[in-house]
Amino acid sequence: MSGLEYHKDIATPSRTNAILKKYHLTMKKSLGQNFLVDPNILTKMVAAAGIDENTNVIEIGPGIGALTERLAREAKKVVAFEVDKRLAPILKTELAEYDNIEIIFQDILEANVPQVIEEHFEPAERLVVAANLPYYITTPIIMNFIETDLPIDTFVMMMQKEVAQRMTAKPGTKAFGSLTIAIDYYTEAEIAFIVPKTVFVPQPNVDSAILKLQRRAEPKVKVTDEAFFFDLVRAGFNQRRKTLWNNLQSRYGKTEEIKAALTAGLEEAGIEPSKRGEALSIEQFADLANALVKYLDVQ
Ligand code: SAM
Repeated sequence: MSGLEYHKDIATPSRTNAILKKYHLTMKKSLGQNFLVDPNILTKMVAAAGIDENTNVIEIGPGIGALTERLAREAKKVVAFEVDKRLAPILKTELAEYDNIEIIFQDILEANVPQVIEEHFEPAERLVVAANLPYYITTPIIMNFIETDLPIDTFVMMMQKEVAQRMTAKPGTKAFGSLTIAIDYYTEAEIAFIVPKTVFVPQPNVDSAILKLQRRAEPKVKVTDEAFFFDLVRAGFNQRRKTLWNNLQSRYGKTEEIKAALTAGLEEAGIEPSKRGEALSIEQFADLANALVKYLDVQ
Protein backbone atom coordinates (compact mmCIF):
# COMPACT_ATOMS: atom_id res chain seq x y z
CA MET A 1 0.00 0.00 0.00
CA SER A 2 3.14 2.17 0.06
CA GLY A 3 1.98 4.24 3.04
CA LEU A 4 -1.28 5.29 1.37
CA GLU A 5 -4.44 4.71 3.33
CA TYR A 6 -6.19 1.77 1.73
CA HIS A 7 -9.93 1.91 1.61
CA LYS A 8 -12.22 -0.65 0.15
CA ASP A 9 -14.98 -0.10 -2.40
CA ILE A 10 -18.25 1.21 -0.96
CA ALA A 11 -19.79 -1.94 -2.46
CA THR A 12 -18.23 -4.22 0.17
CA PRO A 13 -19.81 -5.42 3.43
CA SER A 14 -17.08 -3.85 5.59
CA ARG A 15 -17.15 -0.36 4.06
CA THR A 16 -20.95 -0.27 3.73
CA ASN A 17 -21.39 -1.28 7.36
CA ALA A 18 -18.78 1.27 8.43
CA ILE A 19 -20.63 4.03 6.53
CA LEU A 20 -24.00 3.04 7.97
CA LYS A 21 -22.53 3.14 11.46
CA LYS A 22 -20.62 6.38 10.97
CA TYR A 23 -23.70 8.29 9.80
CA HIS A 24 -26.26 6.38 11.92
CA LEU A 25 -28.23 5.69 8.76
CA THR A 26 -31.35 3.58 8.95
CA MET A 27 -32.46 2.26 5.61
CA LYS A 28 -35.93 3.14 4.39
CA LYS A 29 -37.78 0.12 3.09
CA SER A 30 -40.36 2.47 1.55
CA LEU A 31 -37.63 3.80 -0.78
CA GLY A 32 -36.35 0.33 -1.68
CA GLN A 33 -33.07 0.93 0.11
CA ASN A 34 -31.07 -2.29 -0.27
CA PHE A 35 -27.41 -1.50 -0.80
CA LEU A 36 -25.14 -3.59 -2.99
CA VAL A 37 -22.09 -5.08 -1.25
CA ASP A 38 -20.43 -7.13 -4.00
CA PRO A 39 -17.99 -5.34 -6.34
CA ASN A 40 -18.13 -8.22 -8.86
CA ILE A 41 -21.72 -7.31 -9.67
CA LEU A 42 -20.56 -3.77 -10.48
CA THR A 43 -17.83 -5.09 -12.78
CA LYS A 44 -20.42 -7.11 -14.68
CA MET A 45 -22.87 -4.18 -14.85
CA VAL A 46 -20.22 -1.85 -16.26
CA ALA A 47 -19.25 -4.49 -18.83
CA ALA A 48 -22.89 -5.11 -19.81
CA ALA A 49 -23.42 -1.38 -20.42
CA GLY A 50 -20.12 -1.06 -22.33
CA ILE A 51 -19.11 1.86 -20.10
CA ASP A 52 -15.70 3.40 -20.78
CA GLU A 53 -13.98 6.77 -20.34
CA ASN A 54 -15.97 8.19 -23.25
CA THR A 55 -19.35 7.20 -21.83
CA ASN A 56 -21.56 9.47 -19.70
CA VAL A 57 -23.96 7.91 -17.26
CA ILE A 58 -27.25 8.84 -15.62
CA GLU A 59 -27.69 6.89 -12.41
CA ILE A 60 -31.00 6.53 -10.59
CA GLY A 61 -30.88 6.06 -6.81
CA PRO A 62 -27.19 6.15 -5.80
CA GLY A 63 -27.96 5.25 -2.16
CA ILE A 64 -24.62 5.48 -0.33
CA GLY A 65 -22.73 5.41 -3.62
CA ALA A 66 -21.87 1.74 -4.32
CA LEU A 67 -22.49 1.93 -8.06
CA THR A 68 -21.79 5.67 -8.29
CA GLU A 69 -18.21 5.15 -7.11
CA ARG A 70 -17.52 2.49 -9.75
CA LEU A 71 -19.16 4.58 -12.47
CA ALA A 72 -17.05 7.60 -11.52
CA ARG A 73 -13.91 5.48 -11.99
CA GLU A 74 -14.93 3.95 -15.30
CA ALA A 75 -17.04 6.60 -17.04
CA LYS A 76 -16.53 10.16 -18.15
CA LYS A 77 -19.22 11.80 -16.05
CA VAL A 78 -22.03 10.61 -13.76
CA VAL A 79 -25.21 12.50 -13.00
CA ALA A 80 -27.27 10.73 -10.33
CA PHE A 81 -30.82 11.34 -9.08
CA GLU A 82 -31.51 10.51 -5.43
CA VAL A 83 -34.81 11.23 -3.69
CA ASP A 84 -33.52 10.78 -0.10
CA LYS A 85 -31.85 14.02 1.05
CA ARG A 86 -30.49 12.29 4.20
CA LEU A 87 -27.88 10.76 1.90
CA ALA A 88 -26.42 14.14 0.85
CA PRO A 89 -23.68 14.41 3.52
CA ILE A 90 -22.73 10.75 3.07
CA LEU A 91 -22.36 10.98 -0.70
CA LYS A 92 -20.55 14.31 -0.46
CA THR A 93 -17.95 12.95 1.96
CA GLU A 94 -17.54 9.38 0.76
CA LEU A 95 -17.30 10.33 -2.92
CA ALA A 96 -15.27 13.51 -2.31
CA GLU A 97 -12.27 12.27 -4.29
CA TYR A 98 -14.22 12.11 -7.58
CA ASP A 99 -14.74 15.31 -9.52
CA ASN A 100 -16.94 13.81 -12.23
CA ILE A 101 -20.06 13.15 -10.14
CA GLU A 102 -23.10 15.40 -9.84
CA ILE A 103 -25.93 14.34 -7.55
CA ILE A 104 -29.37 15.84 -8.00
CA PHE A 105 -31.60 15.35 -4.96
CA GLN A 106 -34.91 14.87 -6.68
CA ASP A 107 -37.48 12.17 -7.39
CA ILE A 108 -36.57 10.80 -10.81
CA LEU A 109 -40.25 10.67 -11.75
CA GLU A 110 -40.51 14.43 -11.22
CA ALA A 111 -37.19 15.39 -12.77
CA ASN A 112 -36.86 17.26 -16.04
CA VAL A 113 -34.48 14.68 -17.55
CA PRO A 114 -34.22 16.28 -21.02
CA GLN A 115 -33.13 19.55 -19.42
CA VAL A 116 -30.58 17.82 -17.16
CA ILE A 117 -29.14 16.01 -20.19
CA GLU A 118 -28.86 19.27 -22.09
CA GLU A 119 -27.15 21.02 -19.18
CA HIS A 120 -24.67 18.28 -18.28
CA PHE A 121 -23.75 16.35 -21.41
CA GLU A 122 -22.46 17.04 -24.92
CA PRO A 123 -24.92 15.82 -27.59
CA ALA A 124 -22.20 13.92 -29.47
CA GLU A 125 -21.14 11.92 -26.41
CA ARG A 126 -22.53 8.49 -25.58
CA LEU A 127 -25.06 8.44 -22.74
CA VAL A 128 -26.34 5.38 -20.86
CA VAL A 129 -28.53 4.81 -17.82
CA ALA A 130 -27.30 2.54 -15.03
CA ALA A 131 -29.26 1.87 -11.88
CA ASN A 132 -30.07 -0.43 -9.05
CA LEU A 133 -33.72 0.47 -9.02
CA PRO A 134 -36.15 0.68 -6.15
CA TYR A 135 -38.46 -2.25 -6.89
CA TYR A 136 -41.75 -0.47 -6.39
CA ILE A 137 -41.22 2.01 -9.23
CA THR A 138 -39.13 -0.02 -11.68
CA THR A 139 -41.76 -0.13 -14.40
CA PRO A 140 -42.83 3.55 -14.39
CA ILE A 141 -39.18 4.65 -14.38
CA ILE A 142 -38.33 2.49 -17.38
CA MET A 143 -41.46 3.38 -19.30
CA ASN A 144 -40.87 7.10 -18.69
CA PHE A 145 -37.38 6.80 -20.11
CA ILE A 146 -38.09 4.64 -23.14
CA GLU A 147 -41.31 6.38 -24.21
CA THR A 148 -39.48 9.68 -24.40
CA ASP A 149 -37.12 10.30 -27.24
CA LEU A 150 -33.99 10.81 -25.12
CA PRO A 151 -30.46 10.42 -26.57
CA ILE A 152 -29.78 7.31 -24.45
CA ASP A 153 -28.77 4.13 -26.28
CA THR A 154 -28.46 1.60 -23.45
CA PHE A 155 -30.09 1.00 -20.07
CA VAL A 156 -28.56 -1.43 -17.61
CA MET A 157 -30.77 -1.80 -14.60
CA MET A 158 -30.98 -4.04 -11.60
CA MET A 159 -34.53 -5.04 -10.73
CA GLN A 160 -36.58 -7.81 -9.22
CA LYS A 161 -35.93 -11.01 -11.20
CA GLU A 162 -39.62 -11.61 -11.94
CA VAL A 163 -40.02 -8.14 -13.46
CA ALA A 164 -36.97 -8.66 -15.70
CA GLN A 165 -38.46 -12.00 -16.77
CA ARG A 166 -41.77 -10.33 -17.64
CA MET A 167 -39.97 -7.67 -19.64
CA THR A 168 -38.14 -10.30 -21.73
CA ALA A 169 -40.78 -13.04 -21.94
CA LYS A 170 -41.62 -15.01 -25.08
CA PRO A 171 -45.17 -15.27 -26.50
CA GLY A 172 -47.13 -18.22 -25.16
CA THR A 173 -45.53 -18.05 -21.71
CA LYS A 174 -47.18 -16.95 -18.47
CA ALA A 175 -44.82 -14.01 -18.04
CA PHE A 176 -45.62 -12.60 -21.51
CA GLY A 177 -47.93 -9.59 -21.34
CA SER A 178 -48.58 -5.98 -22.27
CA LEU A 179 -45.40 -4.92 -20.42
CA THR A 180 -43.30 -7.32 -22.54
CA ILE A 181 -44.79 -5.84 -25.70
CA ALA A 182 -44.24 -2.24 -24.60
CA ILE A 183 -40.57 -2.98 -23.82
CA ASP A 184 -40.07 -4.93 -27.08
CA TYR A 185 -41.70 -2.13 -29.09
CA TYR A 186 -39.06 0.42 -28.05
CA THR A 187 -36.01 -1.68 -27.12
CA GLU A 188 -34.09 -4.91 -27.53
CA ALA A 189 -34.22 -6.42 -24.06
CA GLU A 190 -32.16 -9.18 -22.49
CA ILE A 191 -31.37 -10.41 -19.01
CA ALA A 192 -27.62 -9.88 -18.68
CA PHE A 193 -27.32 -11.92 -15.49
CA ILE A 194 -29.12 -12.95 -12.30
CA VAL A 195 -28.14 -11.37 -8.98
CA PRO A 196 -28.69 -13.36 -5.77
CA LYS A 197 -30.38 -11.58 -2.87
CA THR A 198 -27.34 -12.31 -0.69
CA VAL A 199 -25.32 -9.42 -2.19
CA PHE A 200 -27.47 -6.71 -0.57
CA VAL A 201 -27.65 -5.07 2.85
CA PRO A 202 -30.30 -5.50 4.09
CA GLN A 203 -31.10 -8.67 2.17
CA PRO A 204 -34.37 -8.41 0.20
CA ASN A 205 -36.84 -11.30 -0.05
CA VAL A 206 -36.32 -11.94 -3.75
CA ASP A 207 -33.47 -12.35 -6.23
CA SER A 208 -32.70 -9.64 -8.76
CA ALA A 209 -31.61 -9.52 -12.38
CA ILE A 210 -29.69 -7.09 -14.50
CA LEU A 211 -31.80 -6.13 -17.47
CA LYS A 212 -30.10 -4.64 -20.50
CA LEU A 213 -32.24 -2.56 -22.85
CA GLN A 214 -30.95 -1.18 -26.12
CA ARG A 215 -33.10 1.43 -27.74
CA ARG A 216 -34.25 0.54 -31.25
CA ALA A 217 -33.68 3.12 -34.01
CA GLU A 218 -37.32 2.52 -35.02
CA PRO A 219 -40.09 0.78 -33.06
CA LYS A 220 -40.07 -2.98 -33.71
CA VAL A 221 -43.40 -2.88 -35.57
CA LYS A 222 -45.05 -0.22 -37.72
CA VAL A 223 -48.45 0.82 -36.44
CA THR A 224 -50.80 3.39 -37.90
CA ASP A 225 -52.15 4.50 -34.51
CA GLU A 226 -49.76 3.97 -31.60
CA ALA A 227 -52.30 4.79 -28.88
CA PHE A 228 -54.77 2.31 -30.35
CA PHE A 229 -52.07 -0.37 -30.68
CA PHE A 230 -51.24 -0.15 -26.96
CA ASP A 231 -54.93 0.02 -26.05
CA LEU A 232 -55.52 -3.17 -28.06
CA VAL A 233 -52.56 -4.92 -26.43
CA ARG A 234 -53.85 -4.04 -22.95
CA ALA A 235 -57.34 -5.24 -23.95
CA GLY A 236 -55.88 -8.49 -25.29
CA PHE A 237 -54.37 -9.31 -21.91
CA ASN A 238 -57.15 -7.87 -19.78
CA GLN A 239 -58.47 -11.22 -18.63
CA ARG A 240 -55.72 -13.64 -19.47
CA ARG A 241 -57.88 -16.75 -19.38
CA LYS A 242 -60.41 -15.34 -21.81
CA THR A 243 -60.18 -15.57 -25.58
CA LEU A 244 -59.15 -12.61 -27.67
CA TRP A 245 -62.73 -12.41 -28.94
CA ASN A 246 -64.16 -12.05 -25.43
CA ASN A 247 -61.54 -9.54 -24.34
CA LEU A 248 -62.03 -7.43 -27.49
CA GLN A 249 -65.80 -7.38 -27.02
CA SER A 250 -65.38 -6.38 -23.37
CA ARG A 251 -63.19 -3.47 -24.41
CA TYR A 252 -64.78 -2.24 -27.64
CA GLY A 253 -68.44 -3.31 -27.31
CA LYS A 254 -70.87 -6.08 -28.13
CA THR A 255 -73.21 -4.46 -30.66
CA GLU A 256 -73.70 -6.20 -34.01
CA GLU A 257 -71.85 -3.37 -35.70
CA ILE A 258 -68.82 -3.76 -33.46
CA LYS A 259 -68.87 -7.55 -33.71
CA ALA A 260 -68.80 -7.22 -37.49
CA ALA A 261 -65.88 -4.79 -37.28
CA LEU A 262 -63.97 -7.11 -34.93
CA THR A 263 -64.63 -10.10 -37.20
CA ALA A 264 -63.42 -8.18 -40.25
CA GLY A 265 -60.27 -7.00 -38.48
CA LEU A 266 -59.38 -10.43 -37.11
CA GLU A 267 -59.96 -11.99 -40.51
CA GLU A 268 -57.83 -9.40 -42.29
CA ALA A 269 -55.00 -9.95 -39.79
CA GLY A 270 -55.39 -13.73 -40.11
CA ILE A 271 -55.94 -14.26 -36.39
CA GLU A 272 -58.27 -16.84 -34.86
CA PRO A 273 -60.75 -15.14 -32.48
CA SER A 274 -60.52 -18.19 -30.19
CA LYS A 275 -56.84 -17.52 -29.44
CA ARG A 276 -55.70 -15.95 -26.22
CA GLY A 277 -53.77 -12.68 -26.19
CA GLU A 278 -50.70 -14.35 -24.75
CA ALA A 279 -50.41 -16.50 -27.89
CA LEU A 280 -49.99 -13.47 -30.17
CA SER A 281 -46.60 -12.05 -31.14
CA ILE A 282 -45.99 -8.30 -31.21
CA GLU A 283 -46.17 -8.51 -35.03
CA GLN A 284 -49.62 -10.13 -34.83
CA PHE A 285 -50.83 -7.46 -32.41
CA ALA A 286 -49.56 -4.82 -34.85
CA ASP A 287 -51.31 -6.51 -37.81
CA LEU A 288 -54.52 -6.70 -35.78
CA ALA A 289 -54.29 -3.06 -34.65
CA ASN A 290 -53.63 -1.87 -38.20
CA ALA A 291 -56.61 -3.86 -39.49
CA LEU A 292 -59.05 -3.04 -36.68
CA VAL A 293 -58.33 0.67 -36.78
CA LYS A 294 -59.93 0.71 -40.23
CA TYR A 295 -63.17 -0.97 -39.07
CA LEU A 296 -63.65 0.30 -35.53
CA ASP A 297 -64.52 3.88 -34.69
CA VAL A 298 -61.64 4.46 -32.28
CA GLN A 299 -61.28 8.23 -32.44
N1 SAM B 1 -27.39 2.32 -5.99
C1 SAM B 1 -27.34 1.90 -4.61
C2 SAM B 1 -26.77 0.50 -4.51
O1 SAM B 1 -26.73 -0.18 -5.53
O2 SAM B 1 -26.37 0.09 -3.42
C3 SAM B 1 -28.70 1.98 -3.93
C4 SAM B 1 -29.81 1.21 -4.57
S1 SAM B 1 -31.32 1.18 -3.65
C5 SAM B 1 -31.99 -0.33 -4.28
C6 SAM B 1 -32.38 2.35 -4.45
C7 SAM B 1 -32.07 3.82 -4.21
O3 SAM B 1 -33.02 4.60 -4.96
C8 SAM B 1 -32.21 4.30 -2.78
O4 SAM B 1 -31.08 5.05 -2.43
C9 SAM B 1 -33.47 5.18 -2.77
O5 SAM B 1 -33.43 6.23 -1.82
C10 SAM B 1 -33.47 5.69 -4.20
N2 SAM B 1 -34.80 6.07 -4.71
C11 SAM B 1 -35.99 5.52 -4.39
N3 SAM B 1 -36.98 6.11 -5.09
C12 SAM B 1 -36.40 7.06 -5.86
C13 SAM B 1 -36.90 8.01 -6.80
N4 SAM B 1 -38.21 8.10 -7.06
N5 SAM B 1 -36.03 8.85 -7.42
C14 SAM B 1 -34.70 8.76 -7.14
N6 SAM B 1 -34.18 7.87 -6.27
C15 SAM B 1 -34.99 7.03 -5.64
